[in-house]
Amino acid sequence: MQLFPCPFCGLRNEREFHYMAEPGKFRPDTSSQISAEDWAAYLYDTRNEKGRVREIWMHQTCRELFVMERDSVTMNVLGSTSLRASAGEAAE
Ligand SMILES: [Zn+2]
Repeated sequence: MQLFPCPFCGLRNEREFHYMAEPGKFRPDTSSQISAEDWAAYLYDTRNEKGRVREIWMHQTCRELFVMERDSVTMNVLGSTSLRASAGEAAE
């Protein structure tokens, strides 16, 4: 078992968390026509980076979204911040 840091609740069991998305990956505008390839790319293409990564997670107990930074090789958690606090960074 690993402990993940919720910015609102502190360290909690990893089973209380759910991976949500990559920061900066936005849903395509579906009000206009979108190709099947673009939609599939949105759904299935991931960066899958090696090393230091930033990911959006939800703590299912408090239902808050936040950005967790971790090392994808060692699985060590490097920190977490509220999604509200990092919203400007994610849009970059
Ligand atoms: Zn929480």
